[in-house]
Amino acid sequence: MKILMIGAHQDDNEFRCGGLAHKYVKMGYEVRFLSLTNGCGGHHIMTPEETSRRRAGESASVAKLLGITYDIWSDSDDCTLVADLDTRRRLIRYIREFAPDIVFSHRTNDYHADHRAAGLLVQDASYLLTVPHECPDVPAMRDMPVIMYYEDKFLDPEFRADIVLDMNDEINTKLHIASLNVSQVYEWLPYTEHQEVPEGEAERLEWLKGMEITADTTDKEVLAAKRGYSVRFARTAARFRRELIARYGKKRGSRVRFAEAYQLCPYGGPLTKELEEKLFNF
Ligand SMILES: [Zn+2]
Repeated sequence: MKILMIGAHQDDNEFRCGGLAHKYVKMGYEVRFLSLTNGCGGHHIMTPEETSRRRAGESASVAKLLGITYDIWSDSDDCTLVADLDTRRRLIRYIREFAPDIVFSHRTNDYHADHRAAGLLVQDASYLLTVPHECPDVPAMRDMPVIMYYEDKFLDPEFRADIVLDMNDEINTKLHIASLNVSQVYEWLPYTEHQEVPEGEAERLEWLKGMEITADTTDKEVLAAKRGYSVRFARTAARFRRELIARYGKKRGSRVRFAEAYQLCPYGGPLTKELEEKLFNF
């Protein structure tokens, strides 16, 4: 199977579907991350050029860790992504060339203009992937790929968890991936959130993880915790506990500490039983 995960920025795919990406690689599936922008805006000290160079290096480390291909549209500046015709056609060509079975991306309900544009570009491209006279220089696909949105916290309308997956055995990978995005998790994001990062490699990694999540940690504690990436990844399980129990049964569903959640996009191909078996049987 071929898997395409499309984020507006580097770290969008990593944080939201890094665990699933890792599971796919272990199954021998071909996984590709695409960042539709170069991340140049994500720093308060470095210049945009320095930032995008450094971000590219961090993404290369993520690609190596996961065993995936990582493409970045390096000429597309952060915070300027627009769902215009040229960008749509660029994306249509890109998707056709890879011909994925499934695409993951943002919903169009989101705080960040780039995230909204990314979601809209994927929606706009979806049907046209199969229309031969649109971008005739790249052969059209015969079928649309399945499209899934990854989780967000926004309302109107609220994210719907169609698929919620147990990621207990991926938490170390997820935290490792997060820690590789040094310029973001230790510099830029703490700056935007007015947080102090401790000195020292081990100290800052502990800080990054935040609250220790154990089998005894309650969903209430997780939902009330303020920060830390352990909590961030545990929040999905706490938020969708009902769905986890429906999927895995009371015993296992209650024990899932870390999860990832996905919503089916109505504009992609159908998620048949057969595909669901191949893609979400965890
Ligand atoms: Zn983003």
